[in-house]
Amino acid sequence: MTEEATGATISAPGAGDHVEVEAPFYHEGAPQAFQRLWTPHRMVYIGGQNKPSDDTPAQCPFCTGPERDDEEALIVHRGQTSYVIMNLYPYNTGHLLVCPYRHISDWTEATAPERQEIGELTATAMSVVRSVSHPHGFNLGMNQGEVAGAGIAAHLHQHIVPRWKGDANFMPIIGRTKPVPQLLGEQRDMLAAAWSARTGQSGD
Ligand SMILES: [Zn+2]
Repeated sequence: MTEEATGATISAPGAGDHVEVEAPFYHEGAPQAFQRLWTPHRMVYIGGQNKPSDDTPAQCPFCTGPERDDEEALIVHRGQTSYVIMNLYPYNTGHLLVCPYRHISDWTEATAPERQEIGELTATAMSVVRSVSHPHGFNLGMNQGEVAGAGIAAHLHQHIVPRWKGDANFMPIIGRTKPVPQLLGEQRDMLAAAWSARTGQSGD
């Protein structure tokens, strides 16, 4: 790293002396937890691929997705007010989104039943992902507005990002942002099957 103007550098743990790697999302004064919280969201839709040309439901992937079948739309589970879908531009393997069916953009517009079900679906999604791929942690969050990093700002969506120790290196993040439809389909099948099995056991 010779470019000192791009931000802070951090020492690579376990690497030789004088080896430094760039901290990709360093913000002066921001707590470390915030860097980790917001990193995945900044990477989503980084290239703007398939972004809607306007904010209408007709252009909205979270409105049109449920009109297709689950396999094609990569939907993992359908609830009463909201549903769970694979993120087409995942930051990490198993990156899920919980969306209300209604085309609303802001958490304050959600009804009480929508807020409750989005919360319940988020918890179940964490349990399902844990049972399938055993992550060490999760990032959960909603970006409200494009300025806050929302790729599809017009339609509310809750991110569920599984995290593994050591997954925060710069190159794996870049590598994993590439959409791999076949891999996403396989992930959907595994998660949907695990979700169905869990629902059948617990009755919820
Ligand atoms: Zn929508």
